[in-house]
Amino acid sequence: MKLCLCGTSMHIALRTVIFQKVVVIENVPVCSCETCDIQEVLPAIKAEVTDLIRSFGSEPERRTIYFDQTSELAHLLILACDKQQQGRPVQDIVRERVNELLDMMLLARSLNDAEWRKDLERRLRQISQYGNLSSLVS
Ligand SMILES: [Zn+2]
Repeated sequence: MKLCLCGTSMHIALRTVIFQKVVVIENVPVCSCETCDIQEVLPAIKAEVTDLIRSFGSEPERRTIYFDQTSELAHLLILACDKQQQGRPVQDIVRERVNELLDMMLLARSLNDAEWRKDLERRLRQISQYGNLSSLVS
């Protein structure tokens, strides 16, 4: 659990971020402190959000992007926050997702789909990087 500079533990939530009034990015994980009334993008995904925004260029088209489709961490946070999953250990949810990704990897390999495989590898890397997801959502 991330602590704010004031010492209060921060809450994690999924928010909609609007970029230059035209690009809507849904499901961006942010942490917030009620005491200071501040919100910031989750440090673990800051680089990903920056890359995404950079990819829009200087004159972005009007569109909506679901951040959880590019970010595995956001995807896992949505799974972990899902009401139907409540009460289940986060580790179980993560393990199931890893198994699902490994199954897809087998499929991607047998289909010789290099792009899909690369995307799956990136997602698995993200999970191992932020394996301690339970500390984020508890
Ligand atoms: Zn604070």
